[in-house]
Amino acid sequence: MSTIRVGHLYPDYLNIYADRGNIAVLARRAAWRGHDLAVTAIDLADLIRPGGHDLYYIGGGQDREQLLVAGNLAAKAEPLHEAVAGGAAMLAVCGGYQLLGRGYRGFHGEEMPGVGLLPLETVAGTRRMIGDVLIECELDLGVRRSVAGFENHAGRTVLDPGAQPLGRVLAGFGNDGESGFEGCRSGRVIGTYLHGPLLPRNPWLADWLLAQALAHRTGGEPTELEPLPDELETRAHEVSAGRARSRGGRF
Ligand code: GLN
Repeated sequence: MSTIRVGHLYPDYLNIYADRGNIAVLARRAAWRGHDLAVTAIDLADLIRPGGHDLYYIGGGQDREQLLVAGNLAAKAEPLHEAVAGGAAMLAVCGGYQLLGRGYRGFHGEEMPGVGLLPLETVAGTRRMIGDVLIECELDLGVRRSVAGFENHAGRTVLDPGAQPLGRVLAGFGNDGESGFEGCRSGRVIGTYLHGPLLPRNPWLADWLLAQALAHRTGGEPTELEPLPDELETRAHEVSAGRARSRGGRF
């Protein structure tokens, strides 16, 4: 059994909409399979040591909090790229997702540098995109699964041509309310606007991330984790998906 090492970036700054709940889900689901999750905070003064974490996590925040960490995060870009090139996985939610791109221009025109791990750019618009979202993803070839969550962002994220979205919007706004794309994926790095938090109602995605992190930890290929009953989780997903569908139409 393994210890999965999670580096939680700026937990005191980027933590809205219970995004910390994602860590709790990863910890429980790892423990149910006999693995430990060792979570360390990576704060402003901390250095990234490539190879030192199997999974990085960064949550959402308001423009104000993003502004406080953006320069510091951009200064960590090199070791983060090295860590990801070495096979570490990453999950970034909303404000954190925006900062994984090339940059984010906030609502008041603040220019925030990004890490450049995902091929995208974000500019805040005047209308906030708020509500339940349902998307369809294909992270493993030929396996389509849905992800349900809640979005609340002014940022409009545009993916570079050819970039891979996390999924296609079935209901809700997604990246920009126009493209029909939600989130972005590059190898083991996932960025998404979905809060709620994301993982309690989308347990398959938690397991996908754990499998990638375990593969980094053990040096092998990701293997599917032993299934769990997930009755409550499935119900939570259905309620959330139903709320998104009742918004009507596609983005
Ligand atoms: N400040 C960003 C926006 O409004 C992100 C908000 C969030 O993390 N919910 O687009």
